[in-house]
Amino acid sequence: MRPVARLSELNDIDLVVDSIKARLAEIAEGLKEPAALRSARTALAGVEAEVAALRVRQQDCELRQKTADEKLAHNEKRLYGGQVHIPKELQDLQAEVGQSRRQRSQAEDELLETMVAAEAAEEKRAAAQKTLDALVAEWATRQVELRTGQAKLKKRLETELARQAAARARAPSQLLLMYDTLRVRKNGRAVATLLDNEVCSECKVAVSPTKAFALRDGDELVYCENCGRLLFGE
Ligand SMILES: [Zn+2]
Repeated sequence: MRPVARLSELNDIDLVVDSIKARLAEIAEGLKEPAALRSARTALAGVEAEVAALRVRQQDCELRQKTADEKLAHNEKRLYGGQVHIPKELQDLQAEVGQSRRQRSQAEDELLETMVAAEAAEEKRAAAQKTLDALVAEWATRQVELRTGQAKLKKRLETELARQAAARARAPSQLLLMYDTLRVRKNGRAVATLLDNEVCSECKVAVSPTKAFALRDGDELVYCENCGRLLFGE
């Protein structure tokens, strides 16, 4: 086998290894938790805090309502029980009853308002939870797919790396540095094929007849005049 044929063989395997590694890098990137899932979690936490705050406010209103109720009952009992006779005391008591009624009514209004708000927040929480659950499920499925693909590719990579090492060992060692440098410069493809005995397979530009002849008949290295790749005539 000609030296360039060895390099061509190595180049094919190198490109396969490159693409497997690129795909594995994509999978690793894909295995990071999606931004949508993170923001759904944040959204849910926000609504949960809102619900909790409204529940606390609701309890506070209930307590204020209860306190006003008790005070009202106590004062009404005194007011209508006939035990208080002094006009000033009666007047104060009446004022207190009036205040307790206002406080109770205020607490009731606020309680109602809070309950309505809490209910709306609860609905929002349920919707946020539903969104999050759907995203979590979707993400779980996606992860399984990705991990299955990843496992397969890792196995394949092992095989290809072994083939790559063997092909590299077979390739003429004095040409490897040139090959590696060219491969880096030419986006992974260092060796091009001469198609129909005249055209470079990579840049599609015709090669001079002298070069085509040299490729057919000699062992010397021939490069494409246009793209600079090493040419291999099959
Ligand atoms: Zn070319």
